Amino acid sequence: MIIRLPENYFYTARGPNNYAYASNGTLYIEGYVNFEHLMYNLSYTLNGYGRCYYCGCILTRSNRTLDHIHPRSWGGISLPDNLVPCCKSCNNEKTDMTPEQYEKFKKIHKSDKQQAFYQQCLKENRDFMKSRKFLVPEDWVTMYDASQLIEALSFRFLEMSKMKKLEDYFKTVKQYPHPIVVSSNGWLFKGKHILYHARKIHRPVVPAIVLENVKVIMNSS
Ligand SMILES: [Zn+2]
Repeated sequence: MIIRLPENYFYTARGPNNYAYASNGTLYIEGYVNFEHLMYNLSYTLNGYGRCYYCGCILTRSNRTLDHIHPRSWGGISLPDNLVPCCKSCNNEKTDMTPEQYEKFKKIHKSDKQQAFYQQCLKENRDFMKSRKFLVPEDWVTMYDASQLIEALSFRFLEMSKMKKLEDYFKTVKQYPHPIVVSSNGWLFKGKHILYHARKIHRPVVPAIVLENVKVIMNSS
């Protein structure tokens, strides 16, 4: 997928040679940059800090958050196309609902009925994940040959609790809980545990979101 980019963009991360910038519609990432932080910054640059996407209230430093439009728990990853500025109370209320579900939820006035509706949404989403891959737009996801991938971090830093959760999920649902995220030149941004698991069970192809206009440049220093 092609991610949205501002015309002029420069982001500095910790350390002298770690930064990112946009040029001619491509985002170049040089050195070590925390991908999630970069995407949050990019989203604020594109969308501003102004108003809550859902209720329209004015956002302040203390009530400002970013909401994953397609919920994180259903495979919605942190990308500018999936993040909107949102107040804390809307974010807490929306939790694991899709935007369509949340619209319906807001029209229900009795709290016990809201709760029942929310539970029904969770069930629907779970069933959807079991049958049709992820709750993100289908055209974002491609099947990717993971053998070509370059990992920025070693597998030594795998969290075992995450690994166990992933293995359990894979056993029951027969797929991964979210796609991996990679740059156009094959650098892994997200999904280290998935990649490790896929290699362990000799599964060369994994679902991925390939960021066609994002490129990683590793400086030799
Ligand atoms: Zn709000």
